[in-house]
Amino acid sequence: MDYGSFIVRCPQCGTKNRVPNKRTTGNIVCGKCKSQLDLTLLFPHGFLRVNDSSFYDEVIRFNGPVLVDFTAPW
Ligand SMILES: [Zn+2]
Repeated sequence: MDYGSFIVRCPQCGTKNRVPNKRTTGNIVCGKCKSQLDLTLLFPHGFLRVNDSSFYDEVIRFNGPVLVDFTAPW
């Protein structure tokens, strides 16, 4: 499993596109039909990097659903 990316399904053709974690901004297009993939629809509040000291406040105490992607350098 590749933890350095995430999968976005194209709303036009349904193709699953692998998007590197570092590419959360800019022009991201579907590899098959070239439609633009609007990540703001998937993540309307954007991405937030958290660490040990901010995890409780940013994730546990958030009043709503939270999607967390855990990664490690090893
Ligand atoms: Zn597509």
